[in-house]
Amino acid sequence: MNWVDRRHLLPILAFGCRLLAQPAKLSLRGKLTAAGDGTPALDEPARGRVLLAGDPPTVGVLKDQRLAGSDFEAIGGFRDDRVFQIDPIHLRAMFVHRNGRRLFITYWCDICSIRFYTPGICWCCQQESALDLREKDDS
Ligand SMILES: [Zn+2]
Repeated sequence: MNWVDRRHLLPILAFGCRLLAQPAKLSLRGKLTAAGDGTPALDEPARGRVLLAGDPPTVGVLKDQRLAGSDFEAIGGFRDDRVFQIDPIHLRAMFVHRNGRRLFITYWCDICSIRFYTPGICWCCQQESALDLREKDDS
């Protein structure tokens, strides 16, 4: 490929990236629960029960028993009529509403002062990380 071809290709690539970067974002809010087979779900006042899907760290948060029944908000888009695909974990697309505040869902290891975004064992000290709901995601 010579330089002229490359120059003509660039606007096409840039356009494609814009399409990928800006899908219509929806916010879904309701009570975090699980369907009969254990699939995470949200009971939303308007739509009823909506199944939730996401990447593995996102699903880890959805299945955290400490969050079961919470007033939960997820950002993403509908994959089909029943399934809502939550944005990837690095986009911080999940919140808990508590006492009028919208809180980021994080996990904290007290011993190592390390923050995580999915529940589990701290990779440093092997202790269980604590749920830490925060107003700001500043770490
Ligand atoms: Zn640790």
